Amino acid sequence: MNSKVVDKLASYVEALRSIIYIPHFDFDAVDKMISAISKDIRIDEWNGAFVKLNSKATDTQYNLIEFLSFYDVEDIQNTFIVLKDIQSYLREPNILAKLKAIANRNIYEDDYSVTIFIVATNLYIPRDLEHLITVFDIPLPKTQEIIETINIFSKELQIAIPEKLINELALSLKGFSEFDIIQILNLAYQNSGSIEEKDRKLIIEEKEQIIKKSGMLEILNYKETIDDIGGLENLKKWLKNKSEIFNRLEEAVRFGVDIPKGIMIVGMPGCGKSLTAKATATLFKVPLLRLDVGKLLGKYVGESEENFRKAINIAEAISPCVLWIDELEKAFAGIGESGGGNEVTTRLFGFFLTWLQEKESSVFIVATSNDISKLPPEFLRKGRFDEIFFVDFPNIQERRKIFEIHIKKREKWNREIDSIKLMKKTEGYSGADIESIVKESIELAFIENRKTISTENLLTEIKNTKPLSQTLKEKIKSVQSTLDAIDIKKASDD
Ligand code: ADP
Repeated sequence: MNSKVVDKLASYVEALRSIIYIPHFDFDAVDKMISAISKDIRIDEWNGAFVKLNSKATDTQYNLIEFLSFYDVEDIQNTFIVLKDIQSYLREPNILAKLKAIANRNIYEDDYSVTIFIVATNLYIPRDLEHLITVFDIPLPKTQEIIETINIFSKELQIAIPEKLINELALSLKGFSEFDIIQILNLAYQNSGSIEEKDRKLIIEEKEQIIKKSGMLEILNYKETIDDIGGLENLKKWLKNKSEIFNRLEEAVRFGVDIPKGIMIVGMPGCGKSLTAKATATLFKVPLLRLDVGKLLGKYVGESEENFRKAINIAEAISPCVLWIDELEKAFAGIGESGGGNEVTTRLFGFFLTWLQEKESSVFIVATSNDISKLPPEFLRKGRFDEIFFVDFPNIQERRKIFEIHIKKREKWNREIDSIKLMKKTEGYSGADIESIVKESIELAFIENRKTISTENLLTEIKNTKPLSQTLKEKIKSVQSTLDAIDIKKASDD
């Protein structure tokens, strides 16, 4: 068990936090933690099925209200009350009133010291208790702790795992709870009776599965690099500078450099925002996680925050990594407008802002958004992101580069192609438009049995393609007026 985590929990108790909510599925692990900080403190437990008094199970059945009533009457010293899986009771006013009474006595009465621990798989915080509850997240194990778990596992099963492989496995297992790590090691072991290099693939697959099952996060496999982006020179230069820090993070922090927080890229669709998110992870040499904000918003109050906490927890455990939040405006629709967002969105928004502000981990955020007018203005203030960039439709030189990139990528570049003509004829076309022009031309060449493509072919496709800027005329106007009102860096260097 991580002693730092235990110390932190102990410090919460010392600071008279009356109700400590521990969202975790592994109740045994939580039990161990609570008893590690209990010393001579008595532990009583209610878990639905039975009651433990002073850590001993009793035959008497109490319902929750009877159980809690006991602590409301007497003067009680040095007691922990552990309540397991009581989420559904947290909607009952009489239970809330009891919890509140106990918590307040703990704070205000000298002769009374009772700390309540709520241990539950899911987090549900009732409004009435919000100010009395402290959420205690058990962080996912760090690399060194994972190495220890693997060592213990290999000793118990008496299998030898080379040190180099242990280190590699530990990196692949970042983002998992101890419980999951042991499950996965067991799975690998049962397959072959040993743990070998080839099991890393299994672990990586398993990891992708578990992360996918969490519902909101996905590990992306991709190969885009910064050289696949045509133009956006300012943005690329900025990212290259940050990558210097990210690639030498420890050294940079020792030198006094702040850990880069993240970047927001807003702008026109199809102009390279997603491409930049992927290229950033390549440049930083770290994994890329994508957060699906659509899935973040749960049906029940509290569920969205919990989903978000879980996602952040996984990202922090996998860090250093890039966390790409695509279509940020969709998560926080309505906030900042008259009438405001709904309660869930507003709370989620507050939670996200605090996390961004206080974040010390090496999770680098790339938030992308197509519609700046729908973004709450709080995001645009300094201090949230390191920088905000606006990606416009590519300028003339950028269009030339984008043509070249996509034609070369498909190995159809030849000296006959006049990129100057192409760039001149594509004002208002997005990068995605240009890519599709190239693709269509190549497809046609294949069908017509031509070995290569010509400027003429490309010009014909240009004529056949309606630029995105025309389809989005009205939207572009509204974006432009939002942009005029704020201070934002241009991604291009024109
Ligand atoms: P969005 O800005 O909507 O996230 P994307 O980054 O997904 O747009 O762009 C879609 C596709 O268009 C990319 O995968 C890429 O092939 C092409 N593209 C867009 N902008 C550029 C660019 N600046 N350079 C090269 N290709 C681009």
